[in-house]
Order: sequence, then C-alpha cells, then structure tokens
Amino acid sequence: RNPPPTLHQPELWSDDFNDFICKCLIKDFELRPNVLDLLQHVFIKQIVGREKILQKQLIELIDLNQQIGVIEKTRGGHMKTQTDADEVEDLATLEVLDEVRRSTLQSRYGRDQIYTYVGDILIAVNPFHKMEIYTPQYTKMYIGAKRTANPPHIFAVADVAYQSMVCFDSGESGAGKTEGAHLLVQQLTVLGKANNRTLQEKILLVNSLVEAFGNACTVINDNSSRFGKYLEMKFTNGGTVAGAKISEYLLEKSRVIHQAAGERNFHIFYYIYAGLADRKKLAHYKLSDSKTPKYLWNEHVKLGPDIVNNTFYKEQFDAVEQCFKVIGFTLEELGSVYSTLAAILNSGDIEFSPVASEHQTDKSDISNISVLENVASLLCIRSDELQEALTSHCVVARGETIVRPNTVEKAAEVRDAMGKALYGRLFSWIVNRINALLQICVEDKGLNIGILDIFGFENFKKNSFEQLCINIANEQIQFYFNQHIFAWEQDEYLNEEVDARMIEYEDNRPLLDLFLQKPMGMLSLLDEESRFPQATDQTLVEKFDDNLKTKSFWRPKRVDLGFGIHHYAGKVIYNAAGFLAKNRDMLPADIVLLLRSSENELTRKLVTHPLTKTGKEAERVATWKLGRRIRQPGEPGDTPCHPRETTNMRTQTVASYFRYSLMDLLSKMVAGQPHFVRCIKPNNDRQANKFDREKVLVQLRYTGVLETAKIRRQGYSHRILFANFIKRYYILAFPAHEEPAVTQETCSTILEKAKLENWAMGKTKVFLKYYHVEHLNLIVQQA
Ligand code: ATP
Ligand code: MG
Repeated sequence: RNPPPTLHQPELWSDDFNDFICKCLIKDFELRPNVLDLLQHVFIKQIVGREKILQKQLIELIDLNQQIGVIEKTRGGHMKTQTDADEVEDLATLEVLDEVRRSTLQSRYGRDQIYTYVGDILIAVNPFHKMEIYTPQYTKMYIGAKRTANPPHIFAVADVAYQSMVCFDSGESGAGKTEGAHLLVQQLTVLGKANNRTLQEKILLVNSLVEAFGNACTVINDNSSRFGKYLEMKFTNGGTVAGAKISEYLLEKSRVIHQAAGERNFHIFYYIYAGLADRKKLAHYKLSDSKTPKYLWNEHVKLGPDIVNNTFYKEQFDAVEQCFKVIGFTLEELGSVYSTLAAILNSGDIEFSPVASEHQTDKSDISNISVLENVASLLCIRSDELQEALTSHCVVARGETIVRPNTVEKAAEVRDAMGKALYGRLFSWIVNRINALLQICVEDKGLNIGILDIFGFENFKKNSFEQLCINIANEQIQFYFNQHIFAWEQDEYLNEEVDARMIEYEDNRPLLDLFLQKPMGMLSLLDEESRFPQATDQTLVEKFDDNLKTKSFWRPKRVDLGFGIHHYAGKVIYNAAGFLAKNRDMLPADIVLLLRSSENELTRKLVTHPLTKTGKEAERVATWKLGRRIRQPGEPGDTPCHPRETTNMRTQTVASYFRYSLMDLLSKMVAGQPHFVRCIKPNNDRQANKFDREKVLVQLRYTGVLETAKIRRQGYSHRILFANFIKRYYILAFPAHEEPAVTQETCSTILEKAKLENWAMGKTKVFLKYYHVEHLNLIVQQA
C-alpha cells in the first residue's frame, strides 16, 4: 500500500530491496498479490534487464514454497486448530491425549519434519542424517517471518530470540543441542548482518574452535560436549551484530589423562598429532609417529598408528589453525598453544621407578629422562627443577621446610595433575583470548542474545564424579525450566486473580536441595570430607548414607562405593571411587611455581592470577614461600607472589567452584527472557529414520514437555499491563485521536473488536495466548 520510496527510483535498487521483495514473496502471502502487482505494473515494464532476474527468483521461490508445502499450510490464513493430529505443527493446539501427541511427533519424524512447537517451545528430534533445510534459501525464508507462515524450524527460534533475547536448549547426550546451537548462531549472524563480514565469520568459527578443544568422542556421542558453553551475541540497537562473548563451564579435565572404555581424549589432541605428522613437524614438538603418546591410546580402543595417518584429523587440524588465524591469534600464540599441547602429550609418557635404597624404599626416580627433558623444553622450564617437582614435595613443620620424596604413585599423580591443569588453563586462556578479540565496544543498552549449550544428562555403566556434576547441572536447568514454565506462571495467575486450572508437574526442588543445600547437601558433605586428610572414598559414601535421608538417595547392594540417585531424568548408580581426589584437584605448589618461572609467556600466563579461577594454587604458593624458595633468593623461578594473591584464598574444591558456576549460569538465565529448545533423541543407535516410541515418551515426560503442552494450551504466555496493551492496540477499537481510559473495560472492548476468544482479564494485566498476540499485531499492521 505504501511502497518504500525506492520503488519509484528503480535505479537506487539495492540488494537489500531485492531481499525485501523475496521476503514478501516467500513469507507473507497476504502481501503476495501486492508484490506481484507491483512487479507487473511498476518494475517489469520500466527496468530492462532486471525483470529476468526477478522472474527467475520468483519462480524459484514459488517452487521452493511448493516443495515444502508452505502454500498448502498457510492457505487457510492464520494458524487453525487442525483436526488431523498428524498435520499439527504445534502440539499445544491439540485437545487430545498424550499418546496422540507422541504419535504426532512420530509421524512428523517419519516425514522428516523434525521440528514441532509446543506453544513457544521448540521440540527438535535428532534426524541423525544431513537435511537440506539449513540452506540460504531457508535462512531467507525465516527472516522476520510470522511464525505460522513457515513450518517449525530452529531458524524461527532465532527470529523470536532476536526480538526478545535469551534462548537455550537442553536434552540428553547426543540429542542435538550443540548442532542446534550452531544452527541458531548461523541464523543469528545472518539476521544481525554485521557491517564487516569478518566479524560474522569469526563468530561462526568460534564455535568450531572451542569445540575442538572441549568436545570428545564418548560411547554415546562422537562429538560430545565435555563443557558447558554460554555464547552471548551482542547487537547494536540497530540490530547489527557487534561482538560475542563465550563463558565456559566445568570442562571435564580428567579426560586428558584417562578415558573410559570406548572413549577418547579431546578432539584437538588427535588433530594436532596427525596434523603435525602431516607437516613433518612432529620432531619439532618432540613427538614421534612410531610411538603414540600414552594419553592418546586408550587401552580399550587401539587407535595407535591409525591416528597419524588419519586424513580427517589432518583436515581438522588445518581447519582449527585457520580458525585461530581468522579470529586473530598471532603465530607466536599459536606456536605456544601447540607447544603446550605437545608438552601435555609428552608428559603422559614420563615414567617413574622406585629407588631402592637401604633407608628409603618410597622414593621414586624418572626412568626416561629424555622424555622429561622434552617436556621441560616445550614448557621452557628447567628439567632438573621439573624432575624435583615431580619426585619430591615439601612440607612445612614447625617453621622448617622439609623436602620429602614422592612415591611412584604420588609422582604419577603429580604428573597427571600437571597435565590436567595445563589443559584446563589452556582452554580458559583460549576462551578469554577469543573474548578479547571479539569484544567490540557496544553500548550497554545494546541487545544481547545468550545461547546455552551444556553437556547432556549422562547415565553410563560406570558413573563417576564427572557424571554427578553434569547431572546436577542438568537438574538445575530443569528446575529453572519448571520455574519458568509452571511455578512463576501459576503465581502470576493467583496474584492477578485469573482463573486458570493449575497444572501438576514434577517439582525437582527436593533433589536440588539434596545436592546443593548447606551444610547437609551432598556437595557440602563432599567438601567437608575432602578437608580431612584421613578421609577415604569409603568414609565419604558412609557420610552420604548417614546424612542424606530421602527416597532419592540409596545404597545399592553389591556395589562397593556405590550410591544411587533418582534424577528427574532417571535413576543413576554412581561409583564414589576417586571422588575425594577429584574434588580436591590438587596442583602442587612446586609445579605452579616452576611453571611461573617459564621463559614462555603463555606458560607463565597459564599459572598467573587472575586467569587461575580457583586461587587455591596461590595459597599453596604462599605455603611454598615460607619454605625452600625463600631461603634461596635469586634462584631462577623465584617469582615473588603478589600479596593480593595470598589473601582471602581458602582452598577451593571442584564442588565449591561448581556451585559458584551454577549460580553464575542461573543468574544469566534469570536475567533474560528465555526461549527453550528441547532436543529429543529418537533412538540409542544414532540411526536415521528410527523412532523408538518408548525412548521418546520417557524424554517427553521427564523434560515436562507434555505438561508444557497443557499449560501452553490452558495458560497465557503473554501478560500485558493495561496501559501498554491500550497504547499498542487502541487503534483497533477507538478513533486515532482518542485517548481511552486505562481500564479493564477498554481492554475488553479492544479484544472483542478484534474478535478474539479465550483471553482472560487480570487485576492489572491482560492475559493472552501466544497466538492472540500474533493476530493482534497482524491486524494492527493492516489498520
Ligand atoms: P552432548 O550432550 O553429548 O554434547 P548434544 O545434545 O550436544 O550431545 P550433538 O552433538 O548436537 O548432541 O548431536 C549429536 C549428533 O547428532 C551430531 O553429531 C549429528 O550427527 C546429529 N545431529 C544432531 N542434530 C542434527 C540435525 N539437526 N541434523 C542432522 N544431524 C544432527
Ligand atoms: Mg553437545
């Protein structure tokens, strides 16, 4: 009706305007006749040379529409309550039994329609095969489109999130969270067209880069996230993407030194090993293709020689290097990253043997000095000091520092602790560096979209401390989901005296208390026990048993050190072996101080405040200061430690850091208006076109999707204050110059004029269903 001015100045046509026409054609069928009309009467006659392109585009678009059935589905105009359950794209519109909903998902899945809405929540069933629905054509189709104009899609979520911020997913391991997060970022970067293409490109690369370091092959998922990732994308007020920031949570460091049966180390180790071999650079990094580093050969998966010849790994290494470069890492930094990785790999091969002497039988020595020297040279530290730090430790007794030898076991523990710490800190350093490189100055008022992708719920044959942490994190997110969808919603109905049937849902609060309560929750008990030098994993389990009196916790018979937890997502049996050591996560001060003396800048940075998150090493360094190094001033490596670092530093355990991270994560979620994508795994065999009905139903149940459908149908997703509602929509019922009173009656009049039903009126707010708002916006646009 009101064509933009450029319509009459065809010579000023930009690609953007071309895009505008495409959008109209694809998405808004009400606009379609207008656009066709315009094309015929205005453009085609006037612009020689342009019409062919436009016609071609038109034909392509119509073809595309027909292919995916958009025309069929939207012909009836606004979303209708379809009677054929199989055709339904939004489960919340169904007035039927749970069983039907599940079969709706199944028949949709059978037609490769992997996305389905439940109100404003998107369900994604993992297709386990490549789908042609993420092409640029689809990207265009979903930009700025009404939700009902297109089939459900992750790209549509990008659009909603773009308008109202935060969005994140959840689901068990291998369900498709990471893949979904990628697609979302892909769409968001297109939506927020950056002024410079490179920024867009960089943001996309960040994901791949971080995943090379933080993902690994597990028995469940070949690309399993072993850390939690929260990616914030920053936009200017004009909607242009202007920067990005990643926060990482709880990297599973123990994987560096040990992998369970059938699992592998972090991807990057295989990439670099094969990549360096390919470039004939192994020797430079003290590695050899005939002797695979121990940290890489899991006794259960004989990967050995296959790694260096693996072309996929080589390509991935090139890709990772390219990512680093494009994001802005310097060549010097890259070299240091590779050296650190190579040092970790080499360190795994350091071997110890007992030194038998008359007086001391618990002393250890290095059996392969050349490997030790390699590690020292890669880290730019002195090898004799490394040897000393591995094979001895010092204790302070009555003001005197005594050097005590390490047993073979103890020395191996220190070696592994060093490998884990180096890797964990390298990971944090990379993430911080990426943030510094992608942080473009944006005013605080700018928009912010956060995408959360964490490790999914895990239940293996053997579950350890890592699984407990992962599952508690999932428990917390589920709790937040419940709060958001059910609890707060119901509170608001009560406050506003709106009559809505209350929905029963599985409240996992008691379980969260079981883990997080102070001082008697599981994590507090674990910390308490970790402080006793005499405690063992056995005393820990007994402590749990004595203090955790709930049905959700039990001691299974016949499992030594075993305990069971009934999580929201099912029962898991944990094995407490190694819990105390993993929780203490000690890195001896000797090692910290030694690394601080490195001649390599990166190595020094890795052990320097404020990058070190826990601060516990600082405390140990303080202990050290009292000892040997103080009495030998001027020695290389005697970096004085800043007094700031030694104050207020209580020993921090993994559990307490974990608790802190969870709170941090939660505060981010609460601050935003979240949109949820619930990822569903259709089978355990990672097979395409296989829909295991029982498996899906279990997931729908425990993630609360079925209840969500109910509350979305019965509940009101939008609550708008009277004044805001009237300001936005009064034009539908009153003359433009009038200022109607801010009352319930005015609101009712508007709603009746708009011919809407099933809304509710609160004391201060209008309660609307999500489709009401879409409808209102549409008719306001037309008015
Ligand atoms: P974890 O909790 O272990 O990190 P996850 O939920 O992040 O698991 P993904 O790594 O995203 O799971 O997905 C597992 C695999 O499923 C992918 O590697 C891919 O092969 C397949 N997959 C997931 N989503 C899609 C999709 N939309 N299209 C095609 N394949 C997919
Ligand atoms: Mg993942």
